[in-house]
Amino acid sequence: MNYSSKLIEEAVQALATLPGIGKKTALRLALHLVKMDPEWTERLGTALLDMRRNIQFCQDCHHLSDGPLCQICADARRDHSLICVVEGIRDVMAIEETGQYRGLYHVLGGVISPLDGIGPEALHLDSLYQRVAQGEVSEIIMAISPTIEGETTIFYLSRQLQSHPVKISVIARGVSFGGELEYADELTLGRSIAARAPYKAEGA
Ligand SMILES: [Zn+2]
Repeated sequence: MNYSSKLIEEAVQALATLPGIGKKTALRLALHLVKMDPEWTERLGTALLDMRRNIQFCQDCHHLSDGPLCQICADARRDHSLICVVEGIRDVMAIEETGQYRGLYHVLGGVISPLDGIGPEALHLDSLYQRVAQGEVSEIIMAISPTIEGETTIFYLSRQLQSHPVKISVIARGVSFGGELEYADELTLGRSIAARAPYKAEGA
């Protein structure tokens, strides 16, 4: 398309690199920005830059954080003996939305998937073992999608943690949730955590 402006063209190309944004939507957004109060556009730009430059990952749980420790880990009122293990950051957000869980989290950054070349070493496991070894943790709740990869990850983790005196449980599976935690409705997700059961490896 001929935008007749190099400035517009570059903005469109940059916007179109975002997921779900095609060239047409990118152009609509760019034209909208042109019409907006320059101050507002500046606020938008500054917010994005600030976020990208300053966002960190919590040194304990790997959740998004504004400092070395995230707000959840730094909160003394939360139950530090409980760790909920999840695949990703959006799972933490989904569980927090339920308002029913008062423990801490551990974000793995994925699940073990040999077909995709993702082995245990690609996940945040060492930091989880360290947290458990410190002795304050009494229960690990596996809130991981019940896919083959998810089950493999839970099985692997339970083996690795065997030597520690820590209870391992899995969130209730009787209630259906769409495969991924972030798509579960708040009530169902909250309930499935409350109704968690001790983990037993199949055939064990
Ligand atoms: Zn944290």
